[in-house]
Amino acid sequence: MSAPVTVVLLLPEVLGTYGDAGNAEVLATRLRWRGIEGRVLTVGWTDAVPSGGDVYVLGGGEDAAQVLACDRLRDSIGLRRALDRGAPTLAVCAGLQILGTAFTIADGTRVPGVGVLDVETRPGGGPRRIGDVVADPLVDGLDVPLEGFENHGGITELGPDAAPLARVREVGRGPGGAGNGTGDRLEGAVSDRGRGTVVGTYLHGPVLARNPALADLLLTKAVGELPPLELPEGMPAATAARLRGTGDDLGVRTGARRRAGA
Ligand code: GLN
Repeated sequence: MSAPVTVVLLLPEVLGTYGDAGNAEVLATRLRWRGIEGRVLTVGWTDAVPSGGDVYVLGGGEDAAQVLACDRLRDSIGLRRALDRGAPTLAVCAGLQILGTAFTIADGTRVPGVGVLDVETRPGGGPRRIGDVVADPLVDGLDVPLEGFENHGGITELGPDAAPLARVREVGRGPGGAGNGTGDRLEGAVSDRGRGTVVGTYLHGPVLARNPALADLLLTKAVGELPPLELPEGMPAATAARLRGTGDDLGVRTGARRRAGA
């Protein structure tokens, strides 16, 4: 029997403020619904990061928690090895900032990051960027709009080795959003660097619960072509449509139907 596919959830004690730990559960559950054994391995504050995981997941957190997490992860040989061999990784908000080259928090402290994503984050000043986001994907393998909610003070600039994940829609066609906060409506960052895919995003939700296609993209990178999804019997049609991630539920997802009074 083959070993279970291991989803490594990093430091949810400090990177768990926004419910992003759910992303790991989504990945394991979508594997199970395909007859593939999947498990979540939670790496707590005192645990070593394993280098042999199949997918790695980091969530968001407040500035102080983020600095603690970053100091811990920057020195982790296990994480470094996993990233070097191209393990697919999802990093949300503080997680995105941590995987960058550096971030500067509101009090002016500049913290070197893990450096696997060519992005740098600085304080945005003014009000935090809080609200619903709908964004059109800019990467191969995703063709359904992404949605989620953002809540961040930092602004993230992409360097030449990072590509944006998506572009947020303009307000007026449904929820818009700030995305990375750089004024060009870019959202998130993706790096292949010939090794695998690291996906960073500002979207909470958890983002993989709200965007099954993104979950499946990460799973495909981890295990190859995915068998069809066998959803549990008796699931309401609307839920099943959402879980299939085909975009058939798009009107609801982007708010179009809500605005039309449906
Ligand atoms: N502390 C970071 C910021 O405010 C990240 C916030 C988050 O993870 N939601 O920019």
